[in-house]
Amino acid sequence: MTETEGVIKYALDFTPGAPPALSYSLAQLDAWRSILHRLGMVGQTPARYDGYGFGNVSVRDRDGFSISGTQTGKPEQLGAAGYAQVTACNPQTNAVEARGAVKPSSESLTHGAVYALDDGIACVLHVHSPDIWHARANLGLPSTTADVPYGTPAMAAAVAALYANTALPCGRVFAMDGHEDGVVAFGADPAHAGQALLSVLAESLRQGAA
Ligand SMILES: [Zn+2]
Repeated sequence: MTETEGVIKYALDFTPGAPPALSYSLAQLDAWRSILHRLGMVGQTPARYDGYGFGNVSVRDRDGFSISGTQTGKPEQLGAAGYAQVTACNPQTNAVEARGAVKPSSESLTHGAVYALDDGIACVLHVHSPDIWHARANLGLPSTTADVPYGTPAMAAAVAALYANTALPCGRVFAMDGHEDGVVAFGADPAHAGQALLSVLAESLRQGAA
């Protein structure tokens, strides 16, 4: 792995404070995150990625979006206190404004770039799935190229290009060639995004068994 989730590469303007309110959609997101944690798609373990946490999830809200905090991979459930609220996110300047009891995931810019694609996108799930990632070509999954590092203006542009030029608006799942095992799913709510992701996982397992 050439890069890690643990490095915050953006300019973060963070105001410590209360966590976001536990809305229905945030509770739904945390439940989907628990499923992804059980599947080993979100987590933190010495056996993977040098012990850095991996995977992060978010939902859109009135002021921006709430995203799991940086290095919060270990617990199976986070609760509202494990999420930060991102109130401004500019992929062009690599700048993020956030508040909460934890700092936001270092992949906030990639989440922000996905929300910028369409007002109807209200949940983004970034997971690490070797099953999907290694099968991405056979699955015909839209993928950003290996020279595009995550969490950068180049990644935001690459995601926008995929959305404009591939079936991504329909499939709602893409892979990142330059980010080992990195997969992103999105949808109108956590269930919509989670179901798209699990459908792709099932197809990768079906192909692996064939
Ligand atoms: Zn990642």
